[in-house]
Amino acid sequence: METRLNRNGTVFERQSIAEMAGYVPGAQPDGLVVAKLNTNENPFPPAPAVMAALRDIPADALRRYPDPVARGFRQAAAALHGVAPEHIIATNGGDELLRLAFTTFLDPGGTVGIAEPSYSLYPVLAAIQDCRLCRAPLADDWSLASGSAAVWNAAGARLAILVNPHAPSGRLSSAAELAAVAAAFRGVLLIDEAYVDFVDPARGHDTLALIRDLPNVLLLRTMSKGYSLAGLRFAYGIGAAPLIAPMLTKTKDSYNVDAISQRLAETALRHHGHAAEGWATIRAERARLARELGARGFDCAASETNFLLATAAHETAGGAEALYRGLAARGIFVRWFDQDRLRHRLRITIGTPDENDALLAAVDALSRQA
Ligand SMILES: *Cc1c(COP(=O)(O)O)cnc(C)c1O
Repeated sequence: METRLNRNGTVFERQSIAEMAGYVPGAQPDGLVVAKLNTNENPFPPAPAVMAALRDIPADALRRYPDPVARGFRQAAAALHGVAPEHIIATNGGDELLRLAFTTFLDPGGTVGIAEPSYSLYPVLAAIQDCRLCRAPLADDWSLASGSAAVWNAAGARLAILVNPHAPSGRLSSAAELAAVAAAFRGVLLIDEAYVDFVDPARGHDTLALIRDLPNVLLLRTMSKGYSLAGLRFAYGIGAAPLIAPMLTKTKDSYNVDAISQRLAETALRHHGHAAEGWATIRAERARLARELGARGFDCAASETNFLLATAAHETAGGAEALYRGLAARGIFVRWFDQDRLRHRLRITIGTPDENDALLAAVDALSRQA
């Protein structure tokens, strides 16, 4: 284990920080980029009203401190979801809400429940807080194993995190399944809904009822994916007021979301119809890409997100990795995880129709070469 020593041979960082590995974000490639389909960014621009709000930021908004509790944004979010503003907290990206959940609901050294596999940031946050992880493996079809809550309870977990729709598979668990987990779990259940905007409305998926009925459910929503604002760093939590209040008034940084991002995020929510048009296009492209990849021998797990987890038929672990590298050499960037159950698969973000065509053409060219 590498440790960083100063001149006198002293390590200043905590032992657990010295020993942990940091989060590894998807690459932001430079050089030739034909299609960047590796970090689940939205391929469409944010609403024109958001760009207009950016141009119209008054100097006073920069001179003064921002609203510490983002009232304008929380009112817009409350109106959109049909709840009161005290059910909402605005955060500097979803990543901040996750970090706040650790510092607010878990004792240092406590236990956090997760499903395996899921978002690789969760173990990193656990390591920062010296927390233990209790992993409940997902079934072969990526569904929640029944009894996950019992496993977490037995380990004494006070916080558990599920990503739904699931990353990296794209699978959607129903609100009823989630309600059953939350009712059985003794701690706070954070449902990371980073991709929920891309769920087909025909599924009638609605988790807002959960926060009215269950005192321990905290929903995470982000502007990064659905609203094309990953660069802005803005997300929010929705939950019962007693879950939101300690984060809002005690554990978050005093001014955790800046004046510019508050205005832009509020504008984006108020023009939510613009984003929703993009979601419909992404759903149509998701179906087309799954069909086209299927015709080329890939098996794509049913996805309700803006990405597909594609398994190459009859391919070895080297196959998916080789394909990932071959695509990158052609300027097409997708995500490959060197991890159990994922090594023989690629996670592909849904791009614009042109980007998706470029991906398919590159897959065809590589298979002719092989
Ligand atoms: C993108 C993402 C988030 C939140 O990302 P932010 O950009 O920090 O809002 C949270 N969870 C998962 C699984 C994600 O993919």
